Amino acid sequence: MKKYESLTKAELTSLLNELEANYDEMKRKGLNLDMSRGKPSPEQLNLSNELLKIDIFTAKDGTDCRNYGGLTGITEARQLFADILDVPAENVMVAGNSSLNMMYDMLSRSVTHGVMGSIPWCKLEKVKFLCPVPGYDRHFKMSEFFGFEMINIPIKDTGPDMELVEKYVSDDAEIKGIWCVPKYSNPQGISFCDETVKRFARLKPAAPDFRIFWDNAYAVHHFDENNHDVLLNLFVECEKAGNPDLLYVFGSFSKISFAGAGISAIGASKANLDFIQKSLANQTIGFDKLNMLRHVEFFKDLSGIKSHMKKHAAIIAPKFDVVLSCLTKQLGGLEIAKWQNPKGGYFVSFETLPGCAKQVISLCKGAGVTMTEAGAAFPYGIDPDDSNIRIAPSFLTEAELGSAMELFVLCVKLASVRKKCEEIF
Ligand code: PMP
Repeated sequence: MKKYESLTKAELTSLLNELEANYDEMKRKGLNLDMSRGKPSPEQLNLSNELLKIDIFTAKDGTDCRNYGGLTGITEARQLFADILDVPAENVMVAGNSSLNMMYDMLSRSVTHGVMGSIPWCKLEKVKFLCPVPGYDRHFKMSEFFGFEMINIPIKDTGPDMELVEKYVSDDAEIKGIWCVPKYSNPQGISFCDETVKRFARLKPAAPDFRIFWDNAYAVHHFDENNHDVLLNLFVECEKAGNPDLLYVFGSFSKISFAGAGISAIGASKANLDFIQKSLANQTIGFDKLNMLRHVEFFKDLSGIKSHMKKHAAIIAPKFDVVLSCLTKQLGGLEIAKWQNPKGGYFVSFETLPGCAKQVISLCKGAGVTMTEAGAAFPYGIDPDDSNIRIAPSFLTEAELGSAMELFVLCVKLASVRKKCEEIF
């Protein structure tokens, strides 16, 4: 395929006409597909249906899980999360259905009550958060909701630009946190390299109440057990660096068992956990221990989780293949787009030519395929280059994905040619 850059004016015009005609034809197909969010497919959810039938209620230590009590969660659920998140069980607190909810609570109590004795953030003139981009839209929405100023940090293949992170964190006491999805990141699917993790552990924040929000949502979510990323253990690195309180680790079963109906956890130093629990005791008597127990009974241990995740991979990996092979076949060599080939997670991050992402999304929508809004992976919804698009292959069937991707690549070509024509004519 000839690069668009090298096409003559006449060739560009004829290509534009051809693509416009193809687009009109696609519109007539009347597609109605939604790949805007990384939801597990019903087939994936079915993998955990047996969990719904478990009706035990007594924990190993005799706790009656039908009754009140136990703010930290039952011991065996703490152990299960300890294995997933690589944090000792005594440093894990298991909570309700949503890790995002816990992140919100963490911010909320920092705003109203500070962090382990610091001035409550609401009393400060300004609170800033570092936001590696592109990143998870809900992290950014949450920060915006609390009125934090968000600062974009570019992400490379090794993780966030650490030179920039170090500079900001050590120079500016208004910076109180950084969002990280360190493994199979949302949306790039990259995992932070060892050196990046070590540099995080060695941060020297100007603010004593600065914390790393380490959202390890995709810790066990690889496609191939023989070829997967391994994330260095930040909890251990922080301890080694004499910085044990720097870190909150989050995780959940939302993409292991049921999305929004699993269990979640936070891992943190004893001092952090003590502080959190003191505050949390004013908020709840305890989380749903029956669901914790069901999860432990169903998955048993890390090896149970791993074998379950293999079943997820068998469903989801072929969908990523559909997406990636379509991109390679249709766009490879044209030099109008770049994308990442993740080894796990839920997304493919795609870059159009600068200034084309919004148009691609709107063209897709016009022909019946809803994608994540352009700019969603950036603070305030603003992608400075208007080029990032998050592709979420999990929910659609392979056949539906094939149709959606056929339209998507066509829209990328069309928007790119329109852009080239604008520049030339
Ligand atoms: N963090 C990341 C990075 C996510 O992609 C998602 C969506 N699955 C969540 C958190 C939400 O997790 P939960 O359902 O536990 O709130």
